[in-house]
Amino acid sequence: MAKLALLGGKKIRKKPFPSHPVFDDKERKEALSVLDTGQLSGFIANASNSFYGGHKVRTLEEEFKKYFKVKHAMAINSATAGLHAALAAINIGPGDEVIVPPYTMSASASAILMHNAIPVFVDIQEDIFTLDPTKIKGAITPRTRAILVVHLFGHPADMKLIMKIAKKYKLKVIEDCAQAPGATYNEKYVGTIGDLGIFSLNQHKTITTGEGGVVITNDDELALRVRLIRNHGEVIVNDLTPKTISGILGWNYRMTELEAAVGIAQFKKLDKLTDSRIELADYFTERLNKLNIPGLVLPKIYDTCKHVYFVYPIKYNKEKIGISRDLFVKAINAEGVPFGYGYVRPIYLEPMYQKQICYGNKGCPFNCKYYKGKANYRKGICPVCERMHFNELIVTGICRFPLVKKDINDVVIAVEKIISGKKELLDAQQNNRRQNER
Ligand SMILES: *Cc1c(COP(=O)(O)O)cnc(C)c1O
Repeated sequence: MAKLALLGGKKIRKKPFPSHPVFDDKERKEALSVLDTGQLSGFIANASNSFYGGHKVRTLEEEFKKYFKVKHAMAINSATAGLHAALAAINIGPGDEVIVPPYTMSASASAILMHNAIPVFVDIQEDIFTLDPTKIKGAITPRTRAILVVHLFGHPADMKLIMKIAKKYKLKVIEDCAQAPGATYNEKYVGTIGDLGIFSLNQHKTITTGEGGVVITNDDELALRVRLIRNHGEVIVNDLTPKTISGILGWNYRMTELEAAVGIAQFKKLDKLTDSRIELADYFTERLNKLNIPGLVLPKIYDTCKHVYFVYPIKYNKEKIGISRDLFVKAINAEGVPFGYGYVRPIYLEPMYQKQICYGNKGCPFNCKYYKGKANYRKGICPVCERMHFNELIVTGICRFPLVKKDINDVVIAVEKIISGKKELLDAQQNNRRQNER
């Protein structure tokens, strides 16, 4: 048997995996066409046509509207800005609570804090890693105003139950679709089920403009509010009057023409890029299944859902495999394979939540006088999420264009190698310990 790379043997994968994203003449042509006009942004903050942005921004928005079959799409300069604007649009403010899962990118929760409102973390389902609807009711208080659901890793959250609870308790639903453009739940695209859906176009997402995002909704009033918030609403609000001007303080969340142009070319590739993710993920699953390693649990996909594999999640059982997850990951990394452990720390364990201070020094929003509840961010509040992060989850981004099945083969061989080199790994670990003790 070949010696493990971690113990000085040869790597399975010598050359790095090809990087993402890949641009071609389509993006180049789009970007150059903007440079030729000399107009890098078409936005002006007054009540004119320019309030809605330039030609490329509006073209990108039209494309989103067509694809998702929604009434409104608003291009914005990040998904974080989009989440902030969406929460402003539904008028979240001091004293309000918003339910959010702790297993997500930090911005899903910080967008709530930005409104002086309180993120209430509700645990995840352990099969698909998204907000657990059975645990939502227990977290609802008279202060709860909305549920911010995240379609994590590309698999939709259980929207049917979540929408049912939202309806019963009259809560708004914001869908963070940053990791799941094109994913579907009961044949509906995620982002079209709740009140507003937010997509990210940052460098690392399935399609990218470097930085950027898009908010979609079928609600005219919410769309107008997002447009105002995006572009200095306070100076326009007299001319474009929403039902209430509360929460219409404006920001500069405007997308440039250059980004939108690249976005137009990228968006046309969404289905193709998604198909290739799914094909590679299915192949990876098939190959891993054949290895039949008890202790590796492969991604669950609900019958009602289309998974778009922003990353490929694997649950790891230390007892069944016999080596710790972190040692397994270290060993496979040494073989040249990019696996990561745990995804992000449960958000509430970050210092800002533990110390309950996030801007200024008065402790708002946690100590805000309008807040009548008490935020609870103690370790242990979301045990499933903590177990996934600290013990069980492995994620990898290898299922994406321009990788091909041959690349996946290397990964499978590396997995096999580590599993069969288990004893050597354990022996080496023992030796290290003994030496350290001396
Ligand atoms: C990437 C990401 C965001 C933030 O996106 P930006 O466009 O970088 O602001 C928000 N939520 C989730 C789940 C993400 O993965």
